[in-house]
Amino acid sequence: MSHPSADAATVEAQRQRNRRTLTYGESVSDFSPGPTLRPWQRTAAGAGLLAADGTIAATIFAEMSALAANTGAINLGQGFPDEDGPAEVLEAARQAIADGVNQYPPGIGAPVLREAIAAHQRRWYGLDVDEASEVLVTAGATEALAATILALVDTGDEVVTFEPYYDAYAALIARAGGVHRTVPLHWSTEQHRADWRPDLAELDAAVTDRTRIILVNSPHNPTGTVLDDETLDRIVELANRHDAIIVTDEVYEHLTFGVPHHPIATRPGARERTITISSGGKTFSTTGWKIGWLTAPAHLVTSVLAVKQYLTFVNGAPFQPAIAAGLALPDAVFTDAAADLRAKRDVLAHGLEEAGFVIALPESGYFIVADAAPLGTDDGAAFCRELPALTGVVGVPVSAFVHADRQTAYRSLVRFAFCKRHDVLEEASARLASLSAA
Ligand code: PMP
Ligand code: GLN
Repeated sequence: MSHPSADAATVEAQRQRNRRTLTYGESVSDFSPGPTLRPWQRTAAGAGLLAADGTIAATIFAEMSALAANTGAINLGQGFPDEDGPAEVLEAARQAIADGVNQYPPGIGAPVLREAIAAHQRRWYGLDVDEASEVLVTAGATEALAATILALVDTGDEVVTFEPYYDAYAALIARAGGVHRTVPLHWSTEQHRADWRPDLAELDAAVTDRTRIILVNSPHNPTGTVLDDETLDRIVELANRHDAIIVTDEVYEHLTFGVPHHPIATRPGARERTITISSGGKTFSTTGWKIGWLTAPAHLVTSVLAVKQYLTFVNGAPFQPAIAAGLALPDAVFTDAAADLRAKRDVLAHGLEEAGFVIALPESGYFIVADAAPLGTDDGAAFCRELPALTGVVGVPVSAFVHADRQTAYRSLVRFAFCKRHDVLEEASARLASLSAA
C-alpha cells in the first residue's frame, strides 16, 4: 500500500480503549439489565449501546472519531467540517467576547438571536414567528430535541420516526419511557440515487391515537433525503387525525442540492402543532459552538422551556450574537455553501464508486450512504472497524442508526461524510480505491 494506514492490532487495541464501562452505584452487582433498567441504562439501551454484561459502548461517533485520531486515518465518520465557515460569524464571536458578552444570556436566548431567528424564518420560508414568545434558543439542536422529548413524552407514549434515524432520538425516547415506532426508508440500489422514500401506507399504519410525537428529520441524516410535499402533507394529516405533535429536525435546512426544503410548519394545518428545530452548527460550520433553537406556538415553547431551563439553563453567550450575524448574511452565503458541499459530494461519490461501492447520491446534508456488499462484506459494522487498518479511512455503519431487530436491510451499508476539504476527499478516494485493487 502506498499510504500510511494503521495496523490491525493498533486499531483493535484503540477500539477497546474507546469502550467505556459504566456501572450503576458503587458495585457491579447493582447492575440489573432487563425490565428494571435504571434511566441511564434505558437511555444507552435505546441507542443500542448497552451490552448484556452491563458495559456501555461510546456512541459510534465518539468511537470512530477516537479511532481516526489514534490511528491517523482520514475521518469520514463523524459529521463535522474541517474548514471554517463565514469569517463574519467568527469575527462576531471574537467581538462579542471583547465586548464583554460573557455572562448568562436570558433563559429564552439573547434578543438579538431570537430576532434573527424570527427574521430568518420569515425571509426563507414566509413563516411569521413572534420572537418574544415563539422562539427558544438551546444548546444545539440536541438540547432542543432532548427538552422537547422529555417535556412531552410520558411513559408508554409513542414517538414515530423514520428509520434509519439520528441516534439521539432513540436514546431520548427511551429515557423518557416512550415507545419508539419507526417507518423504514427503503434503500434501493437499482437507481444508484437516494431513493429512500417512505411507503405512505407504512406511515399511516405507524401513527395511531397512542402517538404523541411524529419526529421528522428532513433533510435527513444519514440518507440525505429531503421529504417531498406529499409526504409532509400526509404527516400533517395524520398528526391532525390522531392529535399528535410534529417535531422537525431541520439542522441541514440550507444544505440541499437542487431540491427545495420546505419546513413542515409551512404546510396547511401544521403550524399550530409543530415544533421546528434547527441549529447554526451545519449552516455556519460551527458544530462545536452548540447554538440551536426551536420555533413553535407559544404554549409549546412554554412546555419545552419548563424542562430546558433545568438542563443547561443557557449557553454560549458570545456565540449567540455571532450566529445572529450569520443568519443575517446575504442569500448567496447560504447558497454558495450548499454549492460547495455539492461539489464535495460529487468528489466522494466518484471515489466510492471507483472503489466498488454502490452508492445512493444524497439530495442534502453531509453524508453518502454506500453499500459495501459488492466489496464482499455483509457486515458494515465489522467493515468499518477494519477500514482504518485496510485503507486508512473511517466511516460509520448505518446499523448505528437502526434498531437491533431491524438490521437486516441495512447491514452492509456504511455512511461516509463529505463535509471535508477537496484534497482530503481526493486522498480518501485514492485510499479507498485500494480496496478494489486488493
Ligand atoms: N440532528 C441531526 C439530524 C444531526 O445530524 C445532528 C448532528 N449535528 C444534530 C441533530 C445535532 O445538532 P447540534 O450539534 O446542533 O446539537
Ligand atoms: N451529527 C453528527 C453526525 O451525524 C454527530 C454528532 C455527534 O457526534 N453526536 O455525524
